[in-house]
Amino acid sequence: MNPLAHRDDCRLCGSRTLDMVMRLTPTPPGDMYLPRSQAAKASSAYPLDLYLCRDCGYANLLDILDPDSIYKEYIYTTTSSPGLIKHFEGYARHVVERLRLPSGSLAVDIGSNDGALLRGLKKVGMRVAGVEPAPEIAAAATNEGLPTLNRYFDAKAVETIRNDYGPANLVTANNVFANIDDVSSVVDNVKALLAPGGVFVVEFAYLGDLIKNRIFDYIYHEHLSYFSIDTLRRMFASKDMKIVGVEHIETKGGSVRIYVQRAADTPALTDNLDSWIAAEDRQRLRDPETYRTLLQAVDKTAAACRSLLDRYKSEGRRIIGYGASVTCTTLIYHFGLARYLDFLVDDNPAKLGTVCPGLGIDVRPSSAIDGDAKTVVVVLAWRFADMIIERNRQVLDQGGVFVVPMPELKLVDK
Ligand SMILES: [Zn+2]
Repeated sequence: MNPLAHRDDCRLCGSRTLDMVMRLTPTPPGDMYLPRSQAAKASSAYPLDLYLCRDCGYANLLDILDPDSIYKEYIYTTTSSPGLIKHFEGYARHVVERLRLPSGSLAVDIGSNDGALLRGLKKVGMRVAGVEPAPEIAAAATNEGLPTLNRYFDAKAVETIRNDYGPANLVTANNVFANIDDVSSVVDNVKALLAPGGVFVVEFAYLGDLIKNRIFDYIYHEHLSYFSIDTLRRMFASKDMKIVGVEHIETKGGSVRIYVQRAADTPALTDNLDSWIAAEDRQRLRDPETYRTLLQAVDKTAAACRSLLDRYKSEGRRIIGYGASVTCTTLIYHFGLARYLDFLVDDNPAKLGTVCPGLGIDVRPSSAIDGDAKTVVVVLAWRFADMIIERNRQVLDQGGVFVVPMPELKLVDK
């Protein structure tokens, strides 16, 4: 693992006046759940500090891990996540209908992963091309009839696509836009790829929801940008582009999808951005105090959680963490839960037999929860707490308990 670089300017506006507003406990790269034999690769922890730009209001991380060492060994593929296939099919249909794209239009997906969105776009009549840096994932998509260029989305990728397929009527970026360090050149490249009147559709976890729903554990190294609509409006304006539509969607605890065009184009949609900006002002997304208040609330909950687990530990109870994902890593480290957890469980087969980054805590299947009166399950994947508790009701029947750490500490027993 190549260690990190630290920026000292704003990725979007170049300003050097950035306030550090949330200092989370440093972690290794949070998604590197590796087999024990390779666990040393993910053993070093790096700062996990959120900054706010005073000039453009952008919330972001300035400590950046080398993307080559993160993305090229990526074990996560889109369709391995339950529910996502359906999400992408619905997404493709919705966007193509809303923009009234004629059949045969070219759609390019940036960070196309295993082609989940491309598959949906192809199904509704688009010509498709993907761009994906992970070689094996890109090759698998191409073999499936979803042509995928194996590289980062750079000027060369734009040139290749324009030569092979022509300009794009639709360019999409889902949950990758927030992971890109050089946002400026990606936007320049998108602009160069778009046909006249073409639309760039970006989907990302929304900063307003992160604050409102206290999803602090959505902060992790790979996730560099925490966008508001106001911040993005300014950034696109500086590139002679404009946001013409915003939609709120439920994924990842609250996301938005925005539609962007060249400023000179006739807008494909009409939307009222002002209501979004007004809501962000009311939420004080540009005020460092908003973030400090959230951190205080999180820290208070963490302390309460530790004292509850201290008691369980002293009673000799078995403490199991439910969830082995990048967000769980942030939560385990910041809450200081490592010393309590006997093991983790997860429902994603790709995670079984791995260990939590830097902590060596085993990940087992959820069938390893041997419910008895000594069992305590800490629901690390707390946004899915209702579903997880429902599926594992036997724990309660046998006298065990669930601890839901966030958004407020909650104990669930029979
Ligand atoms: Zn800025």
